[in-house]
Amino acid sequence: MLRQVAEGVLIHESEFCQSNAIVVHGRAGVLLIDPGVQGHEMACLAKDLSDSGQTVVAGFSTHPHWDHLLWHAGLGAAPRYGTARCAATVRDRLSDPRAKARIAEQLIPPDIAEQVPLDLLGLITGLPAEMAQIPWDGPQIRIIEHQAHAPGHAALLIEERGVLVAGDMLSDVLIPMLDLNDTADPIEDYLAALRLLEGVAGDVDVLVPGHGSIGGADQVHARIDQDRAYVHALRDAHVLSDPRVGPSAKDGWDWVAGVHARQLQRLARRSERDGTPG
Ligand SMILES: [Zn+2]
Repeated sequence: MLRQVAEGVLIHESEFCQSNAIVVHGRAGVLLIDPGVQGHEMACLAKDLSDSGQTVVAGFSTHPHWDHLLWHAGLGAAPRYGTARCAATVRDRLSDPRAKARIAEQLIPPDIAEQVPLDLLGLITGLPAEMAQIPWDGPQIRIIEHQAHAPGHAALLIEERGVLVAGDMLSDVLIPMLDLNDTADPIEDYLAALRLLEGVAGDVDVLVPGHGSIGGADQVHARIDQDRAYVHALRDAHVLSDPRVGPSAKDGWDWVAGVHARQLQRLARRSERDGTPG
């Protein structure tokens, strides 16, 4: 079911990790951002769109993680985009013939693995780094690329509609998950990304995270502050008080505490190895 969150901007929520697919109405059809996770959900979205007379004219993946790179044949054959760095990362990872099997076995929860179609995974075209907007016939969508959660991660600002599509940043249920594989200073990268988002926060009325609840204008700064406090606590090895971790986590999100514990461990190992924090 599609739910409107701003004029011409609709959300389709997936069962998996409260993932949000985003539909933006353009002049000749819609742009579809992070289409969804399970095959039947994307088929449902495709049907909702065709029932309302809409075709998908472009797709966009906010970052190179499997749950943001899926597609369904029913959505058609429109060009699918990501940042150049996102697309290069996907190409590199999928060049391993075992990659899809590994995603199915190790990354997708076993209870839904059979429901996640991987045949059209990651078929995206990288947009040149200097391209600041999504090339399509619809409201202008600014690409705000940063290095935080994954290589070439992009938030999207739909200025005319006051909507910020945050990718896997600014969630009310997921803590900041740092990219500990691809960057020299994941803590500082994450803080820089939050500053970048803070720079556009004044233009945002509706915040759409990749996973979690849609936020209003008041939530933009609140979530930036909450994520920054989390990253500072990681950096300074402070005792963490974050509602997303521990007994205050929302129902079904108790596993986030495990993600936090693993991040702490890996950061500690990194700093032992490098002799530097982070
Ligand atoms: Zn995600």
